[in-house]
Amino acid sequence: MISLSDKFNQIFRTGIAIDLGTANTLATIRGSEWLLFEPSIVCINQQSKNIVEVGSLARQLAGRTPEYVRCIRPLQDGVINEFIGAEALLKMAITKSLQQNHGLLRPLVIVGVPSLVSEVEMMALLDAAVSAGAGKTYAVYEPVAAAIGAGWALEESKARLIADIGGGTTDIVVLSQGRLLVDKTIKIAGDEMDLALQTYLQNKYNLAISTFMAEDLKIKHASLDLLLSSKQSEIKILGRDVHSGLPKSITIRGTEIAEAILPVLQKITDAVSRAISECSAEVINDLQSEGIYLAGGGAELPGISSFVTKVIGMKAIVVQKPQQAVLKGNLELINNPRLLRLLVNTGCAFE
Ligand code: ADP
Ligand code: MG
Repeated sequence: MISLSDKFNQIFRTGIAIDLGTANTLATIRGSEWLLFEPSIVCINQQSKNIVEVGSLARQLAGRTPEYVRCIRPLQDGVINEFIGAEALLKMAITKSLQQNHGLLRPLVIVGVPSLVSEVEMMALLDAAVSAGAGKTYAVYEPVAAAIGAGWALEESKARLIADIGGGTTDIVVLSQGRLLVDKTIKIAGDEMDLALQTYLQNKYNLAISTFMAEDLKIKHASLDLLLSSKQSEIKILGRDVHSGLPKSITIRGTEIAEAILPVLQKITDAVSRAISECSAEVINDLQSEGIYLAGGGAELPGISSFVTKVIGMKAIVVQKPQQAVLKGNLELINNPRLLRLLVNTGCAFE
């Protein structure tokens, strides 16, 4: 039965949920439909060390700035490469949330952070949140938040695995009773697929394109389903000739994009296999019966669940709205102080 205090929390607790990802920063307010979805990019003036632009405005500037302005992803490899950049993204998320809802005074804030961020950096981020107007703030490891977002009852003893395929990293965790049994992060995810596509076009067609263009092509055209179908399609790509530097356009087969990123997917499934091989027989039994879960923007790739199922030999399930799983998990935590406390006690969350 649901207790009176749980009922109170469900109705009245409000707060801001944030996902400070390597590729994208997301935010929302509990009880509202509003969603902030911005690339985790900042432009920094190298001379003054001032932040010039943040989020989508920074993404528009990328490749078009004078030399002393650098546009970077401050959390690229799942660690904080440039603290002032990560801080600027978090502040943007909080400021824009507070602008959305002026009634929020020092709200509860739950931030998902990549699992390679150190405890010291996490504490510094929590301070930055408070100086941006947050009240009590918690940082939660993203794959754990994604598991909650997938709708798991984390307090249960039955073990489950989730692989969160983001931009810079793939986080693979096995959880039981709110505890991490296996926790693996590899610096291979969406960015690596973009790079593989760039290299493929360069080697096969002498065509140079930017990483941002490669990402757009991947999101629009990559499909593992296409590899198995007899459907033929063609894609026209504009870029630069590697040798002459002049504009060049080529036409490739639709399946080539999936072929180019396939080796990266194989590295990701290898890491999932290694994570499973570290589990006890009991846990493997649980995973067999539950299936394994995929989240993060990389799980949006059409055909990924059947690909992973085939390679691993266990049913793979893509969670609903995989790119928003962390955000959804953090929203649930606003509402569930008991689970939040359990995660602080098990070292999956920090306050
Ligand atoms: P992070 O949590 O690291 O910020 P996200 O979970 O937002 O990352 O995922 C971003 C990654 O997902 C990017 O590499 C992006 O290109 C990739 N992505 C988004 N949509 C698709 C899609 N439809 N197919 C393949 N990759 C995608
Ligand atoms: Mg993420």
